[in-house]
This record gives sequence, C-alpha cells and structure tokens, in this order.
Amino acid sequence: MTGTARQPAPPHVDVKARLAAAVEAHRAEILELSHRIHANPEEAFEEHQAATWVAEAVGRHGFDVEHPAGRLATAVRGVRRGGRGPDGPRIGILAEYDALPGLGHGCGHNTMAASGVGAAIALASIADELPGEIVFLGTPAEERGSGKQFMLDDGLFDGLDAALLFHPGDKTQVDCVLLASEDVEVTFRGLQAHAAADPWMGRNALDALVLLFTGIGLWRQQLPHHARVHGIVIEGGTAANIIPDRAVGRFMIRSSDQAYYESMRERFRSIAEGAAAAASVEVDVEFSGGSTTMKDNAVLRERFRANLEAHGLVVVPVDPANLGSSDMGNVSLALPTIHPSIAICDEGVPGHSILFRDAAATPRADEVTLLAATLVAETAFDLFADPALVEAAWDEFRST
Ligand SMILES: [Zn+2]
Repeated sequence: MTGTARQPAPPHVDVKARLAAAVEAHRAEILELSHRIHANPEEAFEEHQAATWVAEAVGRHGFDVEHPAGRLATAVRGVRRGGRGPDGPRIGILAEYDALPGLGHGCGHNTMAASGVGAAIALASIADELPGEIVFLGTPAEERGSGKQFMLDDGLFDGLDAALLFHPGDKTQVDCVLLASEDVEVTFRGLQAHAAADPWMGRNALDALVLLFTGIGLWRQQLPHHARVHGIVIEGGTAANIIPDRAVGRFMIRSSDQAYYESMRERFRSIAEGAAAAASVEVDVEFSGGSTTMKDNAVLRERFRANLEAHGLVVVPVDPANLGSSDMGNVSLALPTIHPSIAICDEGVPGHSILFRDAAATPRADEVTLLAATLVAETAFDLFADPALVEAAWDEFRST
C-alpha cells in the first residue's frame, strides 16, 4: 500500500456492491432457471416443476425450505436466519411462476421466479452479517385464483415486515396501482331438444349466455373509466342440431375503486339472472374470490426507487388507463408491500401476448432479471440495516 489516502466507501455502498457481485457470480444459475421455467409453462395451481426448481435453488443456498407450504402443493417457503440473532426484521422476497393457458409465459413470470431466487441467493451471501430473517416465498396462481390469499390465510406471511416483488413490463414504474379483480363463472342450464324437428321443446342455455354478453356490452357504456368487465365462452353447446342445455362463460370484473367494484358484483349477478329469465333457463353465478386494490408502501417504494435510479434507470409514472390486477394487492393489505415494474421490451408491447412471452426470454429480459434480483436484495438490505426504516414502513401502513 502506498501512503495515498483513499476515502473508504460508505458501508452500505460496499454491501450493495457485494450483493450485485453475488448476483453476477450466480448469473448462469439464475438465468438457467428463468429459461427452464419459460420453456416449461405451467398454469395456476399446476406449477409443480417450477415450484420444485425454485425450492431446490433456495435450498442449495442455505434456506430451510417447506414445499409444499400451507394448503397449496405449489407454494414454497424458505427461511434463512441472519447470523446476528433473531431480533431484526423479517423481509419477504417473493417469486411468481405461473403461466397463461394457451399462451405460456405471456406475463413473464419466469423472470419473477428467477429474480426472486437471485435476490435470495444474494442476501444469503451476506446472511451471517444480518439480524432477523430472509423469508423466500414462492407464490403460485397469480393469473387466476389469487394464490397469495391462500398463503396469507395459511399464515405463511405471519411475522413478516415487508413483501418485495418485481414484475416485468413494457415500462419501468415504481408506483403500483392495481384494479380489484375477481373471476366469475356463469353456468346456464336449459333443456336439450332437436334443433329442427322440435325446437319448441328446448330451452336454450346458449341464448342466455349470448344475452349475458349483450347485457355486459350495454352495461359497459355506463361504466366509469376505472372499471373493466371481460369474458370468454367455455362451453356453448355440443352440436348445431342440438338445442344447448348447458352454456358456461368465464368473466372477470375489475375496478381500481374497491367500493365501486363491490357494487359491480351485484350488477353482474342481476344481468346474469336477467339473461336466464329471458331464455327461461337456470343460472349459477360463482364468484371465486379475487384480488384487491393495492396499498402501495411509499417508504419501501422510495428505497426501491433510489436503488433503481442509482443503477441509472429512468422511472415513468403510472398511466391510470393502463392497469392490471395482482394478488400482491391482497398482500399489501396485510403488511408493507411494493410491486415495481422494470421494462424488458420496448414500450407498447402488450402484456399477455405472444410478443411479451417471447420478450421474457431475450438477453434484455435476462439483464433485467439479474438487475431486479440485485435491486430487491439491495432494498431488503436497506431494511435489515436500518430498523427505523422498517418502523416507518409500518407507521405508514397503519396510518393509511
Ligand atoms: Zn403477471
């Protein structure tokens, strides 16, 4: 060493550089996981391979792993205790891995699984220096069924001080606004008859489903800008020469206004019952429980923003006309939560599309996956290093 005095880096900067280096050192392992999940898409509640791979990955890095965790076969919970004792924050690092029916990873959840594992790996590399616990949660069924609500009900988030999760997008956004959302299955039951010889003997369940779509279409004219209703036909009869005795549609209703959303459920039910009455058939309307609006935690969000901007990324504001839903909303009602997005493709590529699916396995998506792992780990470290920040996050949570 020469006598030239060099200013030592602030300790946080030093640790954050080590977190980034740990992600880089495990680059191949993290990206191989992302690509493997992308190439083997599994739908909600059926993510058996992805959950196993994720559980094995965090297990290799010193986490005590429960799999299955709670009632869901594809949920994972891994805990890595800090070396400085149990008195400290418990920070949740989340990972999603479900795909879309008929499309594959059109929402890019492979990058979320891999970045969550990457963040867990990075934090594990400094775990001996941390107080508290790093808690990895593999969370199934985001696209349908709100798996995180089951995990909340099963106590798998109990004791956590924060829930951190990144989502890929076509824009980089730190704020998160979500629409409350619910799946609704509507089944109409009528009576079969020969469609030419004795149609007057039948009661046409498909007619009722057509009327339901028509009623929703007319209703949509009066909906405010923050509401959405959309659906598909699941069953619409079996042959053109049989009056359909059964027709099934699957719909989603959504709004960014939780109270308005509750009123939409009743209106939807009325339209379905009206359609059934008009076609003289029976109807079942089954709401499956859904996801809520988001209580975005500003204390956590601003830490994430600072970390992201320190890596040179530019954040754009959320467009209120361009919102989706997530069961991260449900988590956000239980504890301080953030759900930022980072662009993996050019702006304007639609989510839930073949274009977005293909974008989720490109070199650009890979770099974002690694960066997201680092950013989530850095934000978690900010909380481990500063108990006042955890308190501030909880104070905000309790007061809003
Ligand atoms: Zn998604």
